[in-house]
Amino acid sequence: MRKAALALFGAVSFGLFALPPNRLVFPISPEPVYERMARPTPGAAAQAAAMVSAATSTLAASPAATSTLAASPAATSTQGFAASPGTSTAQGPGVLVAGLQVRPFSVDDFENRALVLAWHTFLGKPQFDTDFTLAEFAAQLDAIRALGYSFPTVDDFLSGNIRGRKNVIVTIDDGNHSVPAAIRQVLLPRGIIPTLFVYPAVLGTTFFSMTDTQLAAFVAEGIPAGAHGYHHLRVTESLYRESPREFMDEIFKSKARAEALSKSSILAYAYPYGALSPRTEVELAKAGFAAAFAVRPGFVFADKRLDELYDLPRLVVLRSAWKDILALLARNAAGGADGDAGADQAPGDSSR
Ligand SMILES: [Zn+2]
Repeated sequence: MRKAALALFGAVSFGLFALPPNRLVFPISPEPVYERMARPTPGAAAQAAAMVSAATSTLAASPAATSTLAASPAATSTQGFAASPGTSTAQGPGVLVAGLQVRPFSVDDFENRALVLAWHTFLGKPQFDTDFTLAEFAAQLDAIRALGYSFPTVDDFLSGNIRGRKNVIVTIDDGNHSVPAAIRQVLLPRGIIPTLFVYPAVLGTTFFSMTDTQLAAFVAEGIPAGAHGYHHLRVTESLYRESPREFMDEIFKSKARAEALSKSSILAYAYPYGALSPRTEVELAKAGFAAAFAVRPGFVFADKRLDELYDLPRLVVLRSAWKDILALLARNAAGGADGDAGADQAPGDSSR
């Protein structure tokens, strides 16, 4: 059960995300942007609580136990996975269920992960919290690399090609006209491939956007594109109630137009404003999207059992939050079992 497994990971890695959450979760508008309806999952909460309790007491009891979470039978009885408690290890053969190789979660599963970061514009207007100069952007990337990080792409993530914990996936939202210079002058010279989340309504039609020709050229060079709505609307239940057609356009028309403009398959979606609802997730899957990024703290994992594929975590890079993000990356890089057990750290403490 992904939620339970993630709750477990969250329990042992709480210290990593001891960030001022309101600054990172709601970066664009002050009001809550999530529209989460209660997801009835009978027993899941109790099961998750039991897993966390068992796993944390195991971790607390013996540092050696961190080599495999399968040490605790409760941690292996994940819903939907026919794991054999206490018998399999991280390298075990697993059990075949419905054609999938299934085995208990291990520390290694949590180890192969990435932090997804979202930049917006590079206009040199410091009054905008989401804007940076090209020099500032370059310095940020260099600082991340200096911590030992690699820069896989969203495509790498989709194909499960994430190794180790020190990975940052660079995404850029909105297709601003300042993005091409950032790609040419900052990213490509460093060998970093971003993923461009664009909303087709403005591409090539407004003064503030890059053109469809530019997008197609970047994609032809191997820079993946993703969809970011059609008109950049909040794709929520209230939009669906007000205008089902606009709601569907944000998903289906967004994909079709982005594919036509980029001449590529569009498999990833980034929710404008991080706003989503259960209906949005369902329709994205129907439209053929393989994954969708929200705005919330957390890692994405190579092991798809650990990912909420239509509610993936991502952090918006803000001028006001950059220090905290870099501190988080430093804690994650320092990592190991000790680093993950940083739940005793005070919120915002970046002294590690
Ligand atoms: Zn946006």
